[in-house]
Amino acid sequence: MSGEAARGARARAGGGLLDLHTHSTASDGLLTPTQLVALAVERGLQTLALTDHDTIAGLPEASAAATAAALRFVPGVELSTHVEAGEVHMLGYFMDTADSALRDALVRFRAARAGRAEEMVTRLSAAGAPITLARVHAFAGDGSIGRPHVARALIEAGHATSLNEAFERWLVRGRPGYVERFRLTPPDAIRLIRAAHGVPVLAHPHSVDDLAGLLPELLAAGLGGMECYYGDYDEPRKRDYLALARRHGLVATGGTDYHGGGGAHRRPLGSVHIPPQCVDELLARRA
Ligand code: AMP
Ligand code: ZN
Ligand code: FE
Ligand code: FE
Repeated sequence: MSGEAARGARARAGGGLLDLHTHSTASDGLLTPTQLVALAVERGLQTLALTDHDTIAGLPEASAAATAAALRFVPGVELSTHVEAGEVHMLGYFMDTADSALRDALVRFRAARAGRAEEMVTRLSAAGAPITLARVHAFAGDGSIGRPHVARALIEAGHATSLNEAFERWLVRGRPGYVERFRLTPPDAIRLIRAAHGVPVLAHPHSVDDLAGLLPELLAAGLGGMECYYGDYDEPRKRDYLALARRHGLVATGGTDYHGGGGAHRRPLGSVHIPPQCVDELLARRA
């Protein structure tokens, strides 16, 4: 299908022209940055952001592939942060990727993720699910190492039959292989992204336990946007988040959280409708 025809088909199917939340092999996605860009082109997208977990290592490759394909590319990241009640994911867009504080933080994330993987392997082996660190590293490749890679090693070794089972049986909080990982606080992540001239955006707000309670400190730290179009958010949910974003002057962004393949995030790339002007609104929020 030509790009034009693909765009027509996508619009009819309710999808959009952009996707601002995706993962590649630089973290736990299944497609390389180049393959992800090729898929975006095939699906008729005009704008794509790459937002890997705790790493910007995939951005140069994605950016080069996008330039070659005349696709608008938005450099991004998804930082792991935590509050007492659980996890908060902070997206960052348009950061200066040479910023040394940002780079230092990402190096720290990387080292911490590697140490955590080792600890997970030790605990799993003690709990009767022996896997080797070498296999986990083989699945992670050069990427930001995480539970999905451990899950693939568990499946390979016969300790689970699906990603979901691997998580539920071994890897979620309370299970033998669960190990906390290094995370920033949400305001620290916001300040880090701001200091690198990027725009911080709260990811999938439904997963935040006490959004109303948390929001004031996020706003004070410099939050610039919130994902209001995400996964399968229905109309009422979208309306609530859009109203909240408007009230606080936040850019409403969105995406599919595409990881490739099955697992927790199965939505096809570009399948969430997002107003295209939000990219320029983000750019306007850069310092
Ligand atoms: P980590 O950052 O290492 O804690 O791993 C979290 C990642 O695991 C998420 O970004 C998802 O991509 C993936 N994930 C979480 N829960 C599940 C699940 N039940 N099945 C498959 N993948 C999952
Ligand atoms: Zn992920
Ligand atoms: Fe996330
Ligand atoms: Fe994500």
